[in-house]
Amino acid sequence: MNGEGIPLIRRLEQNRGLTREEWAELIRNRDDESAACLFERAREIRIRHYGHDIYIRGLIEFTNYCRNDCYYCGIRKSNANAVRYRLSREEILSCCETGYRLGFRTFVLQGGEDGWYTPKRMAEIISEIRTSWKDCAITLSVGELSRDTYRLWKEAGADRYLLRHETYDPEHYARLHPAGLTAANRQRCLWNLKELGYQVGTGFMVGSPYQTPENLADDMIFLKRLNPQMVGIGPFISHHDTPFAQMPSGTLELTLFMLGLIRLMLPKVLLPATTALGTIAPDGREKGILAGANVVMPNLSPPQVRQNYLLYDNKLCTGDEAAESLKDLDARMQKIGYHLAVNRGDSLNVE
Ligand code: SF4
Repeated sequence: MNGEGIPLIRRLEQNRGLTREEWAELIRNRDDESAACLFERAREIRIRHYGHDIYIRGLIEFTNYCRNDCYYCGIRKSNANAVRYRLSREEILSCCETGYRLGFRTFVLQGGEDGWYTPKRMAEIISEIRTSWKDCAITLSVGELSRDTYRLWKEAGADRYLLRHETYDPEHYARLHPAGLTAANRQRCLWNLKELGYQVGTGFMVGSPYQTPENLADDMIFLKRLNPQMVGIGPFISHHDTPFAQMPSGTLELTLFMLGLIRLMLPKVLLPATTALGTIAPDGREKGILAGANVVMPNLSPPQVRQNYLLYDNKLCTGDEAAESLKDLDARMQKIGYHLAVNRGDSLNVE
């Protein structure tokens, strides 16, 4: 029967949450009719809080060295074929300068867990960005560190931190990561970040190997509890040099459905239409916006290193994905009735 998930979608909108069983049922039995209803509600809620603005973040992928070996990741330490690079302090600052000129007011410093950038060295870079661009938000996305390190960087001027929880369930987590990396530690980091006053972003892969509707249900319940300012989700896409090379990718369809569900559960959250979404379908990001997303993150890294930050195969890094093409990206957004906004794009999801 078509549209049988609609009553649950209505309940979700009203209560901003469902039970684990209801989440799993809604996800498992989704169909086109339920999705159409969901996206219509998600758009309405998103426009109510954020209008037709699309927030932009300038993504600076400053190192692809990583001490970890996550099974799904193209820059895992065991991948001897990855061409490694690190940006110097000067190169990072120059990315910010370009970004500011282009209209970015949030810089996202993203990298593998690379010990070359010691806590002190990172703190110096953060405080330099903070001093030079006072009206910008500084977001970090550099993995699992101690609470003291997070505190140091917060005091140096960082505002936000992105750390996807990847999957809430410890057993599922253990099938995606080598021993030593645990769901519990990942989640502990997120709670620490929150307590330290960061605006926190988390998220998960959709369609990751071995994922079940129950895993996604647990992810939704965790998101509700954490109540982050941002949620980044994208389809799993395999990388040819990883143990998951032969695993099927996640689908656009399920990713869009999950975006819509998140918008209904956390109405004021920031929700990016991610690069991975644009990678699996040419109009993936537009579809993401129409399913409730309100953020895009073009690439501000120096063009010569972009093709080396290859987390998964065929990752977009040129064309409208490049920060230099903001006008083109804006034109694409205008075509579906939205527009890029030049501001810090803070979350309204504050406690
Ligand atoms: S997913 Fe992150 S932590 Fe894991 S190997 Fe890749 S860059 Fe490193």
